[in-house]
Amino acid sequence: MALSTNTGGQRPGESSGDWDEAREGAELYRIVSELYPICRSITGNGVRESLRVLQQQVPLSLHEIPSGTKVFDWVVPNEWNIRDAYIKNSSGGKVADFRKSNLHVVNYSVPVRKKMALSELRPHLFALPESPDWIPYRTSYYKETWGFCLSQRQFESLADAEYEVCIDSSLGPGHLTYGEFQIPGATDNEVLISSHCCHPSLCNDNLSGMAVAARLAQHLSGRSLRYSYRFVWIPGTIGSIAWLALHEKLLPQIKHGLVLSCVGDPGRFTYKRSRRGNAGIDRVVEHVLRHSRREFQLRDFSPQGYDERQYCSPGINLPVGCFMRTPNGEYPQYHTSADDLTLVKPSSMAESLQQLLQIIAALEGNESYVNLNPKCEPQLGRRGLYRPVGGTKNAGAEDAMLWVLNFSDGGHSLLDIAARSGLPLATLSAAADQLENAGLLAKAGGPRQ
Ligand SMILES: [Zn+2]
Repeated sequence: MALSTNTGGQRPGESSGDWDEAREGAELYRIVSELYPICRSITGNGVRESLRVLQQQVPLSLHEIPSGTKVFDWVVPNEWNIRDAYIKNSSGGKVADFRKSNLHVVNYSVPVRKKMALSELRPHLFALPESPDWIPYRTSYYKETWGFCLSQRQFESLADAEYEVCIDSSLGPGHLTYGEFQIPGATDNEVLISSHCCHPSLCNDNLSGMAVAARLAQHLSGRSLRYSYRFVWIPGTIGSIAWLALHEKLLPQIKHGLVLSCVGDPGRFTYKRSRRGNAGIDRVVEHVLRHSRREFQLRDFSPQGYDERQYCSPGINLPVGCFMRTPNGEYPQYHTSADDLTLVKPSSMAESLQQLLQIIAALEGNESYVNLNPKCEPQLGRRGLYRPVGGTKNAGAEDAMLWVLNFSDGGHSLLDIAARSGLPLATLSAAADQLENAGLLAKAGGPRQ
């Protein structure tokens, strides 16, 4: 199976033959732009509205978990919704306005409507002295409080006077919402793709992952696939904990998984391995990145970061890694108003999607074969598989056939042979196809895990 994203002849898991980076990037950017103004949180109408935007790409379903549901050591919190919020000065001017930026309100703020002196207001204000023009992103999900986030310049300009404070929000029994979309494959063995959808107007951290996951699902839909694919768009931490608690029985079916986040900035790719460290997904992603001719870094698992913390908790321990460009917390705009539509680039998101399609093509193509003619080399020339004139340098395809024939003993997958030979899995996969067609090779059995 060829892995290229710019050649024709679609195969299972292979990218579209008419890959158009500019068009794909424009569509991804359009999705992110549509999602950007929505005020999301770990619960509430912002998540629902966002998932409905993604339904334009794939018919994902919305699932609702009632507040109060116990999920492992956690409880699904009350649902939060917000309509408006502001701080007005004594002359009626708004010094912070939710309608201008939803980051101005501490996410999950309880309602408040009160006049107060600056001294009373100040403990509820947050700013970033080191980046005086940016509004920070703050949350208080599990402690009932309220607050506003301002730029440092706004904060410093506040006169010592009385202010009118309004947060028109509600916090009460409701639901936690998540989105899910499944693509059935030839087997029940699943690949899980997870992205968080709980941040308000932040582009790289949440929207890029949500959009790329939706387009990835769209690209894979309707294909003939070996694995089944399950996409989830969930609120961070509590969403993955709740999903895992409610789906514990199907976890053994999950053979590979990726958390997608921060895939829209122009930084190099980062892959954070699963807790297992040497799972199939870890080896496949590393292989694809090494042959991508793009800059990348690999990191071992750590119990910080995104929902891989839950997927890779010791009692769950799924083979799930995290695919990013610049990791969370490692770019200055992280969790500020500067993680906006200028930070994410259409071309960066398209490249991320292309890389993911190649990872999936490699997962799909990583078969094990058995050489049906293992006693000495088969005569390839007689079958039109070898150059007719001897003495010339071996062509790449012939090299690949020799590697595949030699190590296809049922004990080596194509990925094993790729590691041993230094050849790309795509080249070996194409060679295996040719050898299989010539009756020299057969698949070793059921799908590999
Ligand atoms: Zn975040």
